[in-house]
Amino acid sequence: MGSGPGQADVIEIQLEAHGGIRGRCSECRRAAPGYDRLPERRWQFVPLWGIPTYFLYAPRRVECSQHGVIVEHLPWSEGKRPVTCAMMGFLARWARRLSWRETAQVFQVSWEAVYRSVEWFVQWGLAHRALQEVKAIGVDEIHWGRGLRADNFLTVIYQIDAGCRRLLWVGKRRPQATLGRGLKALGPEVVQGLRFVCSDMWKPYLQVIAAQAGQAMHVLDRFHITTHLNQAVDQVRRSESSRLRAAGKARAQRLKHLRWGLLRRGSRIRGRVRQRVHALLTSKLATARAWELKETFFDFWKYKSVTWAGAFLDYWTERALRSRLEPMRRVARMLRAHEELILNWFRAKGEISAGTVEGLNNKIRVVTRRSYGFRTYEAMEIALYHNLGRLPEPEITHRFC
Ligand SMILES: [Zn+2]
Repeated sequence: MGSGPGQADVIEIQLEAHGGIRGRCSECRRAAPGYDRLPERRWQFVPLWGIPTYFLYAPRRVECSQHGVIVEHLPWSEGKRPVTCAMMGFLARWARRLSWRETAQVFQVSWEAVYRSVEWFVQWGLAHRALQEVKAIGVDEIHWGRGLRADNFLTVIYQIDAGCRRLLWVGKRRPQATLGRGLKALGPEVVQGLRFVCSDMWKPYLQVIAAQAGQAMHVLDRFHITTHLNQAVDQVRRSESSRLRAAGKARAQRLKHLRWGLLRRGSRIRGRVRQRVHALLTSKLATARAWELKETFFDFWKYKSVTWAGAFLDYWTERALRSRLEPMRRVARMLRAHEELILNWFRAKGEISAGTVEGLNNKIRVVTRRSYGFRTYEAMEIALYHNLGRLPEPEITHRFC
């Protein structure tokens, strides 16, 4: 035990090889005759009573008939890492509950040590995860960090089967090639076994999915369609608001501070905002008409029959196209162009749930926001798999959380 003034500040545990048992080759794990010993090394172990703890050991080299002179297999360690597997697993588990920086502070290790531990944990999990049961995936793009450069977008692939929802893959940027890489990473067996793919109307995604998973039913996601509608209403409001202000009209006041109120569902608007939205609706403003169109569209999702849903879609897009509100017309044209994929929503009903992609996106945002501790994209990617991948974990002797 190494000691400072009056108190142990580090525990060192001296390990010795059993004299009667031969070392094993670190490649093939077969026992082999000894060759020589290397100088002593230190591995960090799980802290005992809060005191940093190390293993000390001089590894033997063995002479393997197949692999020649080689360092022996050490059950507590992997490769040249200075941290034991038990400690890496310990840190990795805590790094899901605390930020990486906090984990490093609490257990008196470097940020780098936490990063490497999580990385090891995740790589083990990715290598051992089962993908046979993946039948439904959701594909999306997510913005992260600051700015709108291509590097600030992620392409994500989720499993959205009712029994298992998790992050399957994440890649930088969002062009076709990225999604192609993601599907390749899942492997042809998984891609060809897919029954449902859920995504936005983003053209490159549509093309890749049609080309590679043509057998799967492609569903345009309710959450994305709602987002497009909300954006269109907001565009109408903004341009109308600046038009009225330029003309000095008092009615511009009516549109002020209504942005968030208008995004909500009508039935969920309360209090003062409700009165203001009501006042708006009785006006002849373009924003009111756009909002009313958006609200009407919610009825679409209530249909059970594909035929009736299709009839509603025709009716709604017809109205939107005659509305003289360009943003709404744009949404209507988009919906018409993808009518079949939108109606797939009703064909797939019960098989995929509405909120899954949106829910997982929100969880990703929680992780990326906590991420100012992540100095690189790679670190963030590891953190996403670690928190949302539901990966299998290596068997580890010390389990504290
Ligand atoms: Zn060997």
